[in-house]
Amino acid sequence: MYNPKSLKSDEFIDHSEILESLEYAEANKNNAKLIDEILAKARLRKGLSHREAAILLDCTLEDKNQEIFALAEQIKKDFYGNRIVLFAPLYLSNYCINGCVYCPYHAKNKHIARKKLTQEEIKREVIALQDMGHKRLALEAGEDPINNPIEYILECIDTIYSIKHKNGAIRRVNVNIAATTVENYRKLKDAGIGTYILFQETYHKESYEKLHPTGPKHDYAYHTEAMDRAMEGGIDDVGLGVLFGLELYRYEFAGLLMHAEHLEAAFGVGPHTISVPRIKRADDIDPDVFDNGIDDDTFAKLVACIRLAVPYTGMIISTRESKECRERVIHYGVSQISGGSRTSVGGYCEPEPEDESSEQFDVSDKRTLNEIVKWLMENDYIPSFCTACYREGRTGDRFMSLCKSGQIQNCCHPNALMTLKEYLEDYASPDTKSVGESLIKAEIGNIPKDKVRQIALDNLANIENGSRDFRF
Ligand code: SAM
Repeated sequence: MYNPKSLKSDEFIDHSEILESLEYAEANKNNAKLIDEILAKARLRKGLSHREAAILLDCTLEDKNQEIFALAEQIKKDFYGNRIVLFAPLYLSNYCINGCVYCPYHAKNKHIARKKLTQEEIKREVIALQDMGHKRLALEAGEDPINNPIEYILECIDTIYSIKHKNGAIRRVNVNIAATTVENYRKLKDAGIGTYILFQETYHKESYEKLHPTGPKHDYAYHTEAMDRAMEGGIDDVGLGVLFGLELYRYEFAGLLMHAEHLEAAFGVGPHTISVPRIKRADDIDPDVFDNGIDDDTFAKLVACIRLAVPYTGMIISTRESKECRERVIHYGVSQISGGSRTSVGGYCEPEPEDESSEQFDVSDKRTLNEIVKWLMENDYIPSFCTACYREGRTGDRFMSLCKSGQIQNCCHPNALMTLKEYLEDYASPDTKSVGESLIKAEIGNIPKDKVRQIALDNLANIENGSRDFRF
């Protein structure tokens, strides 16, 4: 029985509710009157239910689809302005006891090189990341209680936060590790993590069990209820995601939104982010084996419909996607992207020989962080290295209320400009720096409050004179 408040995965991700929603969407996909009503509701910027959003996703009316894309772009501008937050993944260990059939880290893969970073190696990786200009990381690790126990992850987090190389600092560590216990989530919270990220992979239980035939990840309920345990452990910024290509995208879309509705209903706070990875080629993995791959048009529509359904939730696109694809979907609601990423263990310090790869998947966007920063600015976006919210305690519902209050322009906007300025001073190439300086000059006037604008101007001057780490 469907119940978004329930703490049982079968009830908040109810299979028949998804099937009925998809049937309803199919029956109404070209119902112009209903679509207009849904779009009118989306314009209120309070979000849509999974059923309403499913209709928009299925709609094939050209004019309505154009409205969907235009509204997604507008909502993104209203809530996130033209800022794009940058981060990089850091792979700690690819030891894994699971059997995920789409992932090259699966336990039976004998020809991938298995690696686990020592604290000394982490230090070197972090220095390399700081020297690129990164301030925010997403930690990645396989699931292996012997090789990568929670104590190892906690030690890595401590090491990462402790490294201060030149003007560098990692100010926010997000964590993407396997579902774990409330006690371990509490430990992660105490270690000062930002967002806890866990991709559902697929919401379709039967497929999930086949795609995860062995290992602890096989347990659908334990995996699907992980965010509830994370919330219970005090982590109120959680990041959802689906690995698109494994199951029918319409099913996943409804499941993803139901998961968001569940978090809102049960804990009063929706997901902090949603990631939309698509399956990629990797050692031992041929993405063509999975017959639910989605084309770029469908992918763009998915991003736009997620934006309309959950306007306050950040959306993340990784370097799994190409420059061209990122350039397209960034308009429709993406708020964070990774840049300069390596998906191998130790890959920031030492590029690996092909035959000894520990990579998780092929990266499509291989540009450097400097190139990505310049490209964003040339496309009228402000690259942001801001990590202020969580450091100021604005997590969970406090972040959401900042979003809803419309005060983001007096807070996130100056923070983005100040952290961009740091990047330009410390890491940018001369041509990126010159594009950036003009952008800051043009954008500083868009801070509405006089007092905030003046403080930001003073801080920009201070950064030029060598000071760092200002925030609102
Ligand atoms: N081991 C953790 C877990 O089980 O959730 C998370 C870390 S894993 C390194 C991060 C994510 O990479 C997975 O959740 C999966 O969605 C994604 N992934 C795995 N194989 C992939 C592939 N071939 N292409 C694209 N993404 C992949």
